[in-house]
Amino acid sequence: DFETAVKVLVVGNGGVGKSSLIRKFCKGQFTDQYKKTIGVDFLEKQQFVKSIGENVTMMVWDTAGEVQSFRMDLKSSIGQEEFDAGLTSEGAGAAVLAFSTTDRDSFDTIEKWKGKVEAECGNIAMCLIQNKVDLIDRSVMTTDEAEELAARLKLKFFRTSVKQGFNVNEVFDFLAETYIKN
Ligand code: GDP
Ligand code: MG
Repeated sequence: DFETAVKVLVVGNGGVGKSSLIRKFCKGQFTDQYKKTIGVDFLEKQQFVKSIGENVTMMVWDTAGEVQSFRMDLKSSIGQEEFDAGLTSEGAGAAVLAFSTTDRDSFDTIEKWKGKVEAECGNIAMCLIQNKVDLIDRSVMTTDEAEELAARLKLKFFRTSVKQGFNVNEVFDFLAETYIKN
């Protein structure tokens, strides 16, 4: 009896809540302390996938949030040989594209992030998240703008608050189900 494992990338500009999302999903913890992520790392968690009635191991990879060095981040995470062998693109089965409610630039850069992921990983399961919806009063994009972006990029869209634990599991449930279906 085989165990299914899927490598999930979480990408988006620095400060949008990528590391927080991963820590919340995998460990159930949240902290307000900001610690800049250097390089990449991953945490894992078992996710029950209803459609197959089985657990899938989600290996969730953190990235540093620089669109320019995305390739280098992946490279340092798996080692030169594996990278040269093209294992990066073969490895990832799903990705979260994340922006923050209070950071316009993180929203405007999403299309670039999608392009980077597609260039590295091809057409994998992906979704768009607007994090920090607990700060909706300080929002720097309208609801319509966010929904239009998701529609235009053909991405399933979630609004999350990692701080409040809102919609975090739903994101990974969607990715696991979509990965299994593909
Ligand atoms: P990363 O650079 O994308 O990995 O972002 P971090 O996970 O390090 O988070 C950046 C900052 O945003 C940290 O101070 C977090 O505590 C905070 N943060 C993350 N998620 C949320 C959220 O949903 N709401 C609020 N208000 N703050 C958040
Ligand atoms: Mg980080």
